[in-house]
Amino acid sequence: MARFGLNRRGFVGGLVTLAGSVFGGQRSFAAAAASPGRPGNTKITGFGESDNVYAELGLTTIINAHLTETVIGGSLIRPEAIAVMEKAAKHFVVMMDLEAAVGKRISEMLKLPQGYGVIVTSGAAAGILNGYAAILTGNDPKFIKQIPDLTGMKSEVIIQRAHRSEWDHQIRTTGAKIIEVETAEDVQKAINERTAAMHFQNFSDPDGQIKRADWLKLAHDANVPTFLDAAADVPPKSRLWEYANMGFDLIAFSGGKAIRGPQTTGLLIGRQEMVHNALLNMSPNEDTIGRPNKVGKEEMLGLLKALEVYLAEDQDLVDKAQSKQLETIVTKLSKIPGVTFTREVSPIKNHFPSLQMHMDPARFSAKPSDIAAQLAAMKPSIIVGGGTSAIEMTAIDLQPGEERIVADALASALTAHSI
Ligand SMILES: *Cc1c(COP(=O)(O)O)cnc(C)c1O
Repeated sequence: MARFGLNRRGFVGGLVTLAGSVFGGQRSFAAAAASPGRPGNTKITGFGESDNVYAELGLTTIINAHLTETVIGGSLIRPEAIAVMEKAAKHFVVMMDLEAAVGKRISEMLKLPQGYGVIVTSGAAAGILNGYAAILTGNDPKFIKQIPDLTGMKSEVIIQRAHRSEWDHQIRTTGAKIIEVETAEDVQKAINERTAAMHFQNFSDPDGQIKRADWLKLAHDANVPTFLDAAADVPPKSRLWEYANMGFDLIAFSGGKAIRGPQTTGLLIGRQEMVHNALLNMSPNEDTIGRPNKVGKEEMLGLLKALEVYLAEDQDLVDKAQSKQLETIVTKLSKIPGVTFTREVSPIKNHFPSLQMHMDPARFSAKPSDIAAQLAAMKPSIIVGGGTSAIEMTAIDLQPGEERIVADALASALTAHSI
């Protein structure tokens, strides 16, 4: 039945698009005939002519009151970045030269230690894969072709058990074996001639027994490179250079989270020769493990621009505007008996104004997760974090005015389930 429904919607959507294309096509044909454009450029469909291109495909768009999450499209790219991407789309360029030039420009924008550089990757996850590939292969052309077969290379990556996450799949993709440890003594025992690196999952710092600085000391004492995954750990901006200055050798950030560059970008920051070797292991270079991790010229320049705007932004003003949006929600809902709020900010990952809405179980016939599901089913869909004990919201991706839609939707859902 669900399948039939989908097909039927698709069919109706198809009709609408087809009807649009008859007129759109004629208009475009006239425009093409009148302009000295390239032959063959005549537009033949009407797609993309409405304001909601997702609706044209029969999809429901989302009001994101939760977080920058890849499953719902990450963040909204900055308009300044889009403008630069359009310009970037008008020329060809040698991609390795572009990577070097963009990396140089970005490293001048950050307060990195001497000898550190930057490359643009296709996301933080790609930064992890390409960074580990660099650690394992160095600049050896034979190893670069051979990986993930690690014959002749080091092959083990040490990580604290509490730091294991879905992101270590990117480490394992290189062929490296994960070695779990818990204590400093475990680390000393685990280090051997096969040890390639020591991984630190930044947001897990509070959960592991070995803290950031001690992890670095253990690694430096044994002359083992360190990798830090800090994908979602800006703001504050200073994190972009803080960890490099602490002594981490490679650090991965997402470009499509709070920086609001293209979704498909990230920064790999680290020791100059390591980031260079990461580049040798990725697109545009062929016969490499990172060839699927392609960053387009437009995306590279889009990230550069987004980062420039992000770094110039007054973080206090941004935080105040987001807090104000969240307080609009609080004001509307605190009249409902049984609803209370806290404002706990996550210390490392997603460090920006946050709101937790708690529901007294004695006063509601629904759980927070039921309310979240109800909002998600609306059109447009509203996404909030729906944990077991509270509804979690932030305004990092909430467009101006959307806070009122969220507040109204929550108010009706809560009132409907009040006992
Ligand atoms: C988002 C995230 C990633 C992946 O980042 P992308 O830029 O989407 O590839 C990796 N690690 C952590 C901790 C993240 O939050």
